[in-house]
Amino acid sequence: MKTLLNYIDGTFQPAATGDTFADINPATNQIIANVAKSGEQDVERAVSAAQRAQHGAWRQTSTAERADLCDAIADHLEANLEALAQMESADTGKPITTARTIDIPRAVANFRFFAGAVRHGAQACHPMADALNYTNRKPLGVVALITPWNLPLYLLSWKVAPALATGNAIVAKPSEFTPQTASALAEAFHAVGAPAGVFNLLHGFGADAGAPLVAHHGVNGVSFTGGTTTGAAIARTASASFKKLSLELGGKNATVVFDDADLDQAIPGAVRAAFTNNGQVCLCGSRVLVQRGIYDAFVERFAAAVDDMVVGDPSDPHTQVGPLINPAQQEKIRSYLQLAGEEGGRQIAGGSPSGLAEGLHADAFFRPTVFADLAPECRTSQEEIFGPIATVHVFDDEAEALSIANGVRYGLAASVWTRDLQRAHAFATALDVGMVWINTWLKRDLRVPFGGTKDSGVGREGGAYSLAFYTEDQNICVQLAES
Ligand code: NAD
Repeated sequence: MKTLLNYIDGTFQPAATGDTFADINPATNQIIANVAKSGEQDVERAVSAAQRAQHGAWRQTSTAERADLCDAIADHLEANLEALAQMESADTGKPITTARTIDIPRAVANFRFFAGAVRHGAQACHPMADALNYTNRKPLGVVALITPWNLPLYLLSWKVAPALATGNAIVAKPSEFTPQTASALAEAFHAVGAPAGVFNLLHGFGADAGAPLVAHHGVNGVSFTGGTTTGAAIARTASASFKKLSLELGGKNATVVFDDADLDQAIPGAVRAAFTNNGQVCLCGSRVLVQRGIYDAFVERFAAAVDDMVVGDPSDPHTQVGPLINPAQQEKIRSYLQLAGEEGGRQIAGGSPSGLAEGLHADAFFRPTVFADLAPECRTSQEEIFGPIATVHVFDDEAEALSIANGVRYGLAASVWTRDLQRAHAFATALDVGMVWINTWLKRDLRVPFGGTKDSGVGREGGAYSLAFYTEDQNICVQLAES
């Protein structure tokens, strides 16, 4: 049995109490590893190590050295891609093909991207007639990076890479449900000879390890991706000590299909948006809004395409939908399946998965399910389910589509499907969300602002936005001549 340790001050070590918890493969319900269960003492050790690194030689490293370190980590991850993909699939239950082609390559790309961003970056200069202002971009200091279970290494590296490239010392707290690739990332730091204390890893639960980390006075900034309720608790704690805060939270995103859309693109696009990673991507389009003229034809083809999805063993390269991560998520999905029925939903796709291979934990598997006829205001249509359930809604005109799309507490993302680009631009602008895709979904350029409005979060990640978050801009004004 594997043991996953914390990584503090350049050494792998158990939790101070010696406590551990089990990492479970959701597909088989088998224990994969015992994991260090961190608490306040471990938080203290990790933050102290990060502070020492911040005040030591790490502070003097050049941009080029930090970019090289990011590239070395990228190379190490890439060389171990298959092993990392296996870990990610075993921890999350996501199909191995997704882990191989999306999760791990993206983690590699995150390190390469931010290496390039700082290597080629420039800082601002504001000349005056008799003086020169220049902006000195300093690292924040010690940053706490807290991440969820749905895209473990992908999202952790999305924070670690810019924090590292800009010269911070890091204390990372990955999800307790998916610790393996975070440990592998610590091994990568160790293998490439990163200075001790620059990257520290704490395994454990939100209440025991995450909360004291956020509250710690030695932490200068917190970047969090996870649920809205957790984000609100983190914001309360972090604001008491004026920590810089980035919050990437939940979503209840709309896929809006107008009657002039190319259905050969829109239908597979809507399926992908609703059910990628089992519907467990914050950007998933779990509400599909369809204009009345094409509603019946769309719904029939959409339901058939959803029913064609292959549910089963995540280690099979053909599988598109694996198990749900843990009993709490499984119970949550069961409760929404029941609620949708009680609220008047008509199930048009889904049902119990059949033909699951022997050895799989049947309780964890659900077929992607679609409900029609639900009011946009009902709980099923309003609450973030974060699983394999989508709803379809009919609309008559742009005003109605906009009112339904914007009529939720979240404001993360949307996709709009139409051949009329003028309408697409106007509609996209009117959407209260941080990101809109037109005739596509989840097409990513790592330079663009990523983040949400309303209860979907505060701040933006990506390119210059991440570099700005992990740094403190200092203006230096030099007198050049007698004034
Ligand atoms: P979660 O909020 O339960 O946990 C996320 C992380 O926070 C975990 O590491 C957890 O241990 C930690 N945590 C929990 N309580 C804490 C506390 N009080 N203080 C500090 N840390 C604490 O989220 P989850 O269930 O792991 O992930 C699913 C959620 O994440 C969904 O709502 C989804 O929409 C959201 N998400 C958002 C984005 C985005 O970019 N906006 C991306 C992925 C997931």
